Amino acid sequence: MVTHPDQANPHEFNPWLHVSSLIDKAGRLLGLDEGMIQRIITPERILEVAVPVRMDSGEIHMFTGWRIQHDTSRGPGKGGIRFHPSVNTDEIAALSADMSIKCAVVNIPYGGAKGGVKVDPEALSRSELERLTRRYAFSIAPMIGPDRDIPAPDINTDTQVMSWIMDTVSMLRGHNTPGVVTGKPLSIGGTLGHAGATSLGVTICTAAILERLGRPMNEQRVVIQGYGKVGAPLVKLLSDRGMKVVGIADVHGAIHVPEGISYSILAKHFADAGTVVGYPGSVHVPADELFTIPSDIAIPAALGGVITEQVAETMSATIMIEAANGPTTGEGAAVLASRNIPVVPDVLANAGGVVASYFEWAQDLQGFMWERELFTQRLEKTMSEAFKYVWQRHLELNVTLRETAIAVGVERIAEATAIRGLFP
Ligand code: GLU
Repeated sequence: MVTHPDQANPHEFNPWLHVSSLIDKAGRLLGLDEGMIQRIITPERILEVAVPVRMDSGEIHMFTGWRIQHDTSRGPGKGGIRFHPSVNTDEIAALSADMSIKCAVVNIPYGGAKGGVKVDPEALSRSELERLTRRYAFSIAPMIGPDRDIPAPDINTDTQVMSWIMDTVSMLRGHNTPGVVTGKPLSIGGTLGHAGATSLGVTICTAAILERLGRPMNEQRVVIQGYGKVGAPLVKLLSDRGMKVVGIADVHGAIHVPEGISYSILAKHFADAGTVVGYPGSVHVPADELFTIPSDIAIPAALGGVITEQVAETMSATIMIEAANGPTTGEGAAVLASRNIPVVPDVLANAGGVVASYFEWAQDLQGFMWERELFTQRLEKTMSEAFKYVWQRHLELNVTLRETAIAVGVERIAEATAIRGLFP
């Protein structure tokens, strides 16, 4: 079960309590009644599974996995699966609620879900990772399916992991089931635009807020935390639009390059060194000082809970775009608001990934694949329209962009819930 507010440890950031308080606040702003607010906060279904894995050594190791469907009033559950040592019920529940809001904000016909296994995948061999993935997929199989709940990649999961899940479920059901996961390789029903779609959405939101604030793109210096699936493509996408990426951090440290990082040189350096640290001509900065580097735009694109009160106080940038899920704590958000630093929240900024997933799923269900141009054009349209609507409501409601986006999501979930009525 998720942590109840009465059990909260005031000294620890709890992502679940944070998200539920944001939904609660949005519900009150919209004038929803208490019962409806609780209905929207409470996860529909929480599954915790034991994942025994035979290690290469012959020993059996036990891992724990989860799949949580937060809300399915607008459509089947949708959301990624992460493999990380920090995974627990509250984290997955918070991320599943973020997915319900995110899918509603970009107005795609999904509810929200999330899954994960508490594991350090770096410590597993490839065959151990495959056995872990397949056993986890088998254990959550009764809960997932193209019309129930559709997983996707998240932290430390990729096209290979999705392929193993798709294969395991297809074997169980006795027929090919490509629509059970998104973010697959092209050969088994993936789509051309999925890789990099989150980064494209982040770029569209960055360009959109700069336009609204009347700030020219080619004068912006950007710092990015994370050089993974989302952070790495961002360097090219932002540079192509004339922005200068002056700082990047990964788990090994941060680099500062005042004249701007070349994405092609960085890609080559990273391929050789396995880290951004040591980029030719860069100054090595401790990773926790990344956001103090003189810059205009800050983009956290790694883990949650990193923009704390202290990081927010010393942040140099004057706009923040949340490419990661849940990067900002409540205290961090309050400091940014008091410093008048606008934040494009995760549920809008990083929604490009799930929009791409929606297109992939729709194509799999139809058995008809789109061309890349159509995919990109629809992604850009969906993201631009979502940003436009949130911005307009932000001006009307006069609350932060995060509060507005959550209110937009909650309003749409409440509408679906109300019109469907309560069963039985
Ligand atoms: N993991 C991504 C996210 O957090 C994508 C989820 C999906 O495509 O279902 O938005």
